Amino acid sequence: MGHCGYVRDNQLGKDGHVSVHSRPSLRRKLEPDGTDRLVLNMTAPLDCLVIGAGPAGLTAAIYLARFHLTVEVVHGNDSRAALIPRTRNHAGFPGGIAGSDLLERMQAQASEFGTHFVKGIVEDLRREKDLFVARSSDNRWSARSVLLATGVVNNCPNMPKKLHDEALALGLLRYCPICDGYEVTDRRIAVIGTGERGVKEAVFLRMYSSDVSLISLEGAHDLTAEQRKTLENANIALHEGPCLAFGIRNQQLAVSIPEGDFAFDAVYPALGSVIRSELAVLLGAKTSPEGCIIVDPHQRTTIPGLYAAGDVAKGLDQISHAMGEAGVAATAMRNDLACTRPLLRPS
Ligand SMILES: Cc1cc2nc3c(=O)[nH]c(=O)nc-3n(C[C@H](O)[C@H](O)[C@H](O)COP(=O)(O)OP(=O)(O)OC[C@H]3O[C@@H](n4cnc5c(N)ncnc54)[C@H](O)[C@@H]3O)c2cc1C
Repeated sequence: MGHCGYVRDNQLGKDGHVSVHSRPSLRRKLEPDGTDRLVLNMTAPLDCLVIGAGPAGLTAAIYLARFHLTVEVVHGNDSRAALIPRTRNHAGFPGGIAGSDLLERMQAQASEFGTHFVKGIVEDLRREKDLFVARSSDNRWSARSVLLATGVVNNCPNMPKKLHDEALALGLLRYCPICDGYEVTDRRIAVIGTGERGVKEAVFLRMYSSDVSLISLEGAHDLTAEQRKTLENANIALHEGPCLAFGIRNQQLAVSIPEGDFAFDAVYPALGSVIRSELAVLLGAKTSPEGCIIVDPHQRTTIPGLYAAGDVAKGLDQISHAMGEAGVAATAMRNDLACTRPLLRPS
C-alpha cells in the first residue's frame, strides 16, 4: 500500500523500464481475484521532483507535500548525514542524535503527508517543452519543477574503507570541525591536508586544542611563507607526508609518515569534496568555480523551474543550513507554480 492508503500504478514500459509519470489521480482497478481497489494513476507530471534525501531534500518534501503538491523524492541512499555517529550541534536534540535516526524521522514525517520515495541515481535530467524529465537506470519522472538536494561527497584519505568507516564511527576520523570540534576540546588533533584549506582548518581547530598538527597527504607541504608564519604563530606542528598508512591503536588513529608514526585522538581530512552538481551542469545552470550551484535568495538556479538547496548550493555545509534553504526553496517552488496555474483546493 502507498502512504496515503493507495497503491501506485507503476507500469513496466516496453523497454523494460518502469515508467513513473506522476500527477496522481485515483481510479478503480479490478484485480484478477475480483477485488476492487483504488490505485494512483500516474499519468500527469509531478508538481515537484526532489532529487536527494538528505536534510535538504527531506525538509523540502515535508513542505511540498503539506502544500498539497504532488512530490516524489528520488535518492541514492547515501546522505552525508547518515555518516554522523551523533550530531550534537543540531538544535532540538539535547544529548545529540545519530544522523541516521534524524534522517529516518524526517523521512517518516514526509511520508505522513504522502511523499513517495524511490531509491535510485538520477543519471539524466533535461527539459522537454515546459517539463523536466529525469531518468535513472530503471525509472523516468516528468515534473513541472525540480529541487536538486544532491549534496557533496568528502574526499577521503588513502585508507581501506573498512578502517575508514570504523575510525569514523569511533570519532577518530572527523570531517566537520564546525560540527564536532567541541567534542575534541583539549585532545590531540591532526589535520590531513595542506595549502589554504589545510591551514584554515588547522587554525580553526586550534580554538579547541593547543595540540594541533598539519600533515600533508602526499609529498611536501604546499605553503607560502605567510601561511607558514600563521601556523608558527598559532603553534601548530607541521609534518610532511606522504601519509603511508593509518591504523587504530589504543583508541587513537595512528598515521605513518616518513618522519615516523604519530597517533591522534582525532584526525580531520581537509581534502575538499566533490560537489554533486552534475545534473545542474547538464541543464546549463550556473555553478561557482568550485562547482556549487549558484542560487538566488529563493534558491532558484539560473534555469527556471530548477532549484537547489543544501550542501550542493554555495553556503555553510550544515544540517540547519540545508534545512533552512530547503524551506525557502519549497516555498519558492510553490509560489512559482502558483504563477503558472492557480493552486485552488477543489470544493
Ligand atoms: C562525518 C560527518 C559529520 C557531520 N556532522 C554534522 C553535524 O554534527 N552537524 C551538522 O549540522 N552537519 C554535520 N555534517 C554535515 C551534514 O551531514 C551535511 O551538511 C548535510 O547532510 C547536508 O545535507 P544535504 O541534504 O544537502 O546533502 P546530503 O545529506 O549529503 O544528501 C544528499 C542526497 O542526494 C542524493 N543524491 C546525490 N546525487 C544523486 C543523484 N544523481 N540521484 C539521486 N540521488 C542523489 C544522495 O543519495 C543523498 O540522498 C557532517 C558531515 C559528515 C560527513
